[in-house]
Amino acid sequence: MATQKLLLLPGDGIGPEVMAEVSRLIDWMNQNGLGNFETETDLVGGSCYDAHQQAITDATMDKAKAADAVILAAVGGPKWDKVPFEARPEAGLLRLRKDLGLFANLRPAICYPALAEASSLKREVVDGLDIMIVRELTGGVYFGEPKTITDLGNGQKRAIDTQVYDTYEIERIGRVAFEMARKRRNKVTSMEKRNVMKTGILWNEVVTRVHAAEFKDVTLEHQLADSGGMQLVRWPKQFDVIVTDNLFGDVLSDIAAMLTGSLGMLPSASLGETDPKTKKRKAMYEPVHGSAPDIAGKGLANPIAMIASFAMALRYSFDMGKEADMIEQAIAAVLDKGLRTADIKSEGTRVVNTQQMGEAIVAEVAALAG
Ligand code: NAD
Repeated sequence: MATQKLLLLPGDGIGPEVMAEVSRLIDWMNQNGLGNFETETDLVGGSCYDAHQQAITDATMDKAKAADAVILAAVGGPKWDKVPFEARPEAGLLRLRKDLGLFANLRPAICYPALAEASSLKREVVDGLDIMIVRELTGGVYFGEPKTITDLGNGQKRAIDTQVYDTYEIERIGRVAFEMARKRRNKVTSMEKRNVMKTGILWNEVVTRVHAAEFKDVTLEHQLADSGGMQLVRWPKQFDVIVTDNLFGDVLSDIAAMLTGSLGMLPSASLGETDPKTKKRKAMYEPVHGSAPDIAGKGLANPIAMIASFAMALRYSFDMGKEADMIEQAIAAVLDKGLRTADIKSEGTRVVNTQQMGEAIVAEVAALAG
């Protein structure tokens, strides 16, 4: 089995606590022949600022570039509120995303049956939900120029943001979505606003062309992003993979996230280009939640989002779909047995701490692996 090189960046707050549970799982997989991971751990965010007066060092960036995948927990906290802007903890995250060229953000919305009551929607709408939002992350209206506020001199100001997309940006995010669908239920829904936006017309045209030329085996549907948002809360199970631009993706992925309940449950992945020589893709996997300083150091953190992020690394960086499935099934089994961290507790369940939850998931993986 080839060696898989992982750079672990625990970061700040609850970061090291939840990362410890991923390390526990990695150790178990290495010892039991389910993986051959070589890990290195380094600093990012506030903890890096304390040691080096910057949010990430060049040496760590070199390690991130050399790794097969970066697994990051979370950065930030009140301790670093007053550090210079360029050295704030989030600057470490932004540099990782930018320098690794991570243009595709993947956010699954999975609703474990045992947690369906925690959703604001009816059980039958979300029970067993499993969809994936693929959001373009480095282009569109958040980066387009001009981006200005001008004083018009008559008591009025004018603000301008510019939505820009080039063909290649749409092609590459489209390919990520279609490839993803092939590993899932083989359906992509592309969302834009071609009725009112030029970028929407180009988006629709390019996605349609890429599909016809390279992914005929995948079902493609188009929806206007506003009605897509409505469909997401009406009957989300109609979707498999949704691909959309940076702005619509920001909004739609937050809506999808809330279908499933708690912040402590949500993983994510950010992917870059595939290297034509090595066939490997730069990638970073991280939970959606932050460093939760309010509960740090108390054993209260839910490690599931972090562990599910590692499962995404197995599926999308290492083609280890079977092992990823096993981890996701183990999470579902532990929840079915009524084990809960404090953030997802409900009547009749047993509250456990971070480490106990991690241990229970490893025990379930062991049982599933037979
Ligand atoms: P947060 O996600 O850290 O916490 C929001 C709430 O959810 C808190 O009550 C927290 O206790 C709870 N929570 C979060 N993750 C949890 C988990 N795994 N288990 C149980 N409960 C959990 O967001 P925030 O409070 O707005 O931000 C705190 C710090 O994190 C800030 O410095 C912020 O800048 C940073 N942040 C970092 C990232 C990142 O690293 N990607 C993302 C968001 C916020």
